Amino acid sequence: MGNFFKDNEDLQFYMDRGIDWDSLIRITELNFQAPDGHESVAEAKEFYTDVLSMLGEFVANEVQPNVAAIDHKKVKLVDGEAVCPPEWDAIFEQLAELGTHGLPIPRELGGMNMPVLTYFMNGEILGRADVSAMTHSSFHAGIAMALLVYSVHEGTTTFDSEKLIISETRFGDAVREIATGAAWGAMDITEPDAGSDMAALKARAVQDEDGNWFITGSKIFITSGHGKYHIVIARSEPDMSLGLEGLSLFLVKAYEDNEDGTRTRYANIVRVEEKLGHNGSATCAMEFDRSPAQLVGRRGEGFRLMLLLMNNARVGVSFECIGIMEAAHRLAREYAAERGSMGKTIDKHEMIADYLDEMENDIYGVRALTMHAAFHEEMAHKLKLYGRAMRAAGRSLEFLGIDSDEALEARIKHHEWESRRMTPLMKYIAAEKSVEHSRRCIQIHGGAGYTKEYGAEKLLRDALVMPIYEGTSQIQSLMAMKDQLGRILKAPQDFLKDVAQTRWRSVSADDELERRVAKIRGAGLKTLQLVLQRTIAAKIKDVRRLPMSEWKAAFADMDPKRDFSYAMLHAERLTRILIDSAITEVLWNQAKEHPERREILERYIERAEPRVRFLYDEINTTGTRLLRRLSPDQDSRAAE
Ligand SMILES: Cc1cc2nc3c(=O)[nH]c(=O)nc-3n(C[C@H](O)[C@H](O)[C@H](O)COP(=O)(O)OP(=O)(O)OC[C@H]3O[C@@H](n4cnc5c(N)ncnc54)[C@H](O)[C@@H]3O)c2cc1C
Repeated sequence: MGNFFKDNEDLQFYMDRGIDWDSLIRITELNFQAPDGHESVAEAKEFYTDVLSMLGEFVANEVQPNVAAIDHKKVKLVDGEAVCPPEWDAIFEQLAELGTHGLPIPRELGGMNMPVLTYFMNGEILGRADVSAMTHSSFHAGIAMALLVYSVHEGTTTFDSEKLIISETRFGDAVREIATGAAWGAMDITEPDAGSDMAALKARAVQDEDGNWFITGSKIFITSGHGKYHIVIARSEPDMSLGLEGLSLFLVKAYEDNEDGTRTRYANIVRVEEKLGHNGSATCAMEFDRSPAQLVGRRGEGFRLMLLLMNNARVGVSFECIGIMEAAHRLAREYAAERGSMGKTIDKHEMIADYLDEMENDIYGVRALTMHAAFHEEMAHKLKLYGRAMRAAGRSLEFLGIDSDEALEARIKHHEWESRRMTPLMKYIAAEKSVEHSRRCIQIHGGAGYTKEYGAEKLLRDALVMPIYEGTSQIQSLMAMKDQLGRILKAPQDFLKDVAQTRWRSVSADDELERRVAKIRGAGLKTLQLVLQRTIAAKIKDVRRLPMSEWKAAFADMDPKRDFSYAMLHAERLTRILIDSAITEVLWNQAKEHPERREILERYIERAEPRVRFLYDEINTTGTRLLRRLSPDQDSRAAE
């Protein structure tokens, strides 16, 4: 009997000791004061481990054997409804019975109240078998939790401070229905003429004289668009020049099932996309024609609300990518151990051994970064939901070392920044590596990898969307670059202090591994400095003589489209350096506490050091010719 949790030592490391479970469980269980909850950290962990083991067994034995059939049969549009293969329906019926759709949903709303992190770990396990199944599963509890977070944000959730439970929440009925598995949701952002550029979104939301909202417009590529609850972003302010400020968020019930067995639709599925992969996932084109909608939050707040949950969605995709990486590595490793060539199995040939070694090491690194981001993202949300409610009720948060409202807000800010800083790095590298690993998996299989027999080609077809959806790799790089440069400009003295401390650590730390980690961090800081310097130099010739504290003022009159071209050109390379810096920091923190992780760090550093040197050199020495060609001055000269 296979088990995708029990056969994965690294995943078990996180379940056992690689996460600060004490903090996460105590805040999730309101320090064991809520009714019907677990009574200790140990008891909760034992329960989570049992649930993950059960799911690991289910996925290995009930999902994995069906994925080829699902991939072949695909989702079809029949009489306006998306119809999935029967194997698919059977899997989701069983998942509903196992209760996974309510896994992170609070008990009082029909869920199991497990940390979102465990839901993501389950996502990785499902993704290892089939990313379509993982994606669809995440549009159950993922949407329910989004509705809960939005309701808390807009102030329509009330918390019973005596019983320590949510007593009322605006979208409670939808959340409860989703927890049972009877319904799921979708996130409707993309339109035919607007993907990465959300300011170009056109779907319109209008209000009648009684204040009711209606949405009209087209949305495309909507994952699990055959769901009932659609969170839709639409333009509530007709003035397009308002850009992102003119967008609001809405909840649209796409259909209602009637007692006579018929269905009334308020938003129509007009197409199910034919795709390269993800064939079990219904990717729908939706048409809204005066579809009744409920405004979520305030008018004009739509983009902000999307941002509120963006990190969370990206963490989910990263776990999905790790599922692919894990599957690709295992498939390749098993094949290489069997396949003979020139007197030995191919895993003994140096180049293939090197591939496999790097793949394994990447998985450790990407999973470490993703677990780290997921932890901070969840802590931030839970402190906002439960931490604030507990303090308002006069309950102590001393179990988290928090003794005042100010300390609580500072802790929330810390978790938010850590999550924000890591998320674009994590999404970028997880997505890119899922493609690289599945491509290598085919290569290691040789000609057999190019056939359908082994499943290697399916992994690559499925992986190729990872760097596209939930923010493309280029958009992640721009975000990472802007966040980091913005922070330096906001507090240049802090940055300079960081540079000095990192340099000191790189020469004086007692532990050789710590010195090497600090050197990689130093390379990241040096690159940021270079990128900033060159960006300003494009505008101010004498930048080298300008103290860093005056760079902010120098930026004030710059035009981002034109003057930031150097930073934008190298954003992806910079992101890759920052990723190696972030991963080695996270692995170093693990190694300090768990010496058995030192080898993983050492292996990662060995590959990261030359990579970072190469990327720095590339940033330093390339691009001038291309930028000259792209410059608007050049355009005007050519036009003359
Ligand atoms: C299988 C699948 C499922 C999806 N699920 C959903 C869903 O559930 N809900 C939803 O709303 N959408 C969904 N999408 C849509 C997805 O989020 C978009 O495809 C994605 O945001 C990219 O938008 P686009 O396709 O319009 O590409 P574009 O935005 O046109 O981008 C094209 C290329 O240009 C690059 N680019 C764009 N702007 C810049 C820039 N400023 N600098 C550098 N490069 C840039 C991009 O990185 C990309 O490489 C899904 C897509 C697929 C394929």
